[in-house]
Amino acid sequence: MAVIVQKYGGSSVADPARIASVARRVAESAAGHQVVVVVSAMGRTTDGLVALASEITSTPDPREMDMLLATGEQVTIALLAMALHGLGRRARSFTGPQTGMRTDAAHTRARLTRIDASRVRAALDAGEIAVVAGFQGLSEGDEITTFGRGGSDLTAVALAAALKADVCEIYTDVDGVYTADPNVVPDARKLGRVSYEEMLELASLGAKVLQSRSVEFAKKYGVPVHVRSAFKSDPGTLVTREEQAMEEMVVTGVTHDRNQAKISILRVPDRPGIAGQVFGAIAERNIVVDMIVQNISRDGYTDMSFTVPRGDHARAVAALEDVARKVGAQGVSHDERVAKVSIVGVGMRSHSGVAGRMFGALAKEGINIQMISTSEIAISCVIEDKYAELAVRALHDVFEVGKGAPS
Ligand code: ADP
Ligand code: ASP
Ligand code: MG
Repeated sequence: MAVIVQKYGGSSVADPARIASVARRVAESAAGHQVVVVVSAMGRTTDGLVALASEITSTPDPREMDMLLATGEQVTIALLAMALHGLGRRARSFTGPQTGMRTDAAHTRARLTRIDASRVRAALDAGEIAVVAGFQGLSEGDEITTFGRGGSDLTAVALAAALKADVCEIYTDVDGVYTADPNVVPDARKLGRVSYEEMLELASLGAKVLQSRSVEFAKKYGVPVHVRSAFKSDPGTLVTREEQAMEEMVVTGVTHDRNQAKISILRVPDRPGIAGQVFGAIAERNIVVDMIVQNISRDGYTDMSFTVPRGDHARAVAALEDVARKVGAQGVSHDERVAKVSIVGVGMRSHSGVAGRMFGALAKEGINIQMISTSEIAISCVIEDKYAELAVRALHDVFEVGKGAPS
């Protein structure tokens, strides 16, 4: 008997009718298999809870924020378990803490530390379908924590690893992983398979179809992940180990990330220790810095620019203004209207001239590049936010990503 973990995202459980249809699908899978179902909050519930908090305060306490956000998934698990009971199935719902998802204490962005899946395993062994709330866990201090937006994917993959499941199926509102967001690029192509490495880059550079930490986890534990449609039964995309054939394409996917803000600290003294102070102040506030650029030094001074998630930008600027005064910099400037566009592909390892083609394609559209960063299999550019979708379409065209590998 196979163990299957299925995850249904917010849009797949948006209303009672969709929950009923998920229940039917789960019940079918449960015939002859042990099934764990991980669910998200219904529809845009989490966005609604975030908005509610912001009506109360602009600086919510992170512990209370987690207390609030964790309620969303709890509604779905109870309703789905009831729907399964209605189909004559035995099912039991579990919150993140009841599932044994233990985390560190970093509220709203907690990291998983260990899983004690014994209650879920016992439910499966007793012939029950386990219905698990995604996105949440319990810190060692017994506080409710959440894993960051999109975190239900992590719950699913981590449980699949802990239970040594045969497959982790991620059901969503698209029928697989595409060469670009299909809602932005109409001729994006569905990938039959994608390597963990590429999926990790795609996810961390903005393809929100899978949360990047869930892909990290899948790669580390070799969990086969199958991304599929919650509404159709077509085969989706298998996220798996790299294969030779995958290298034929130079660029496998194009992504954009609009959750970016750029901050610059101007005319900082160019001497050892300054960068440490600047980024130390940001790190102290638990803000993740992405791209960093430092200009050439002129008369002993330099400018430094970096990007942070848009939601953290006000806190980062406040921290930096403090440091700027201390180190004798001229000041701090910031721009929240930036986006990052990226091309990703393992084929880049063995092809030259890729960066030049990317920059040329952006120039042809009149798009100015503000920052650039590269990894072994990705190149990213920070550009003005309003050009993000145009840039994705232009890059998707230039690299002929929609056409697929030459046969
Ligand atoms: P869920 O609520 O099921 O977790 P998400 O909204 O988190 O779903 O992720 C699915 C969305 O990801 C799609 O609707 C699509 O717009 C977006 N997306 C971005 N990039 C890609 C891509 N490369 N392939 C597929 N979907 C993508
Ligand atoms: N409900 C959470 C969110 O909207 C977690 C998830 O859906 O994966 O981010
Ligand atoms: Mg998601």
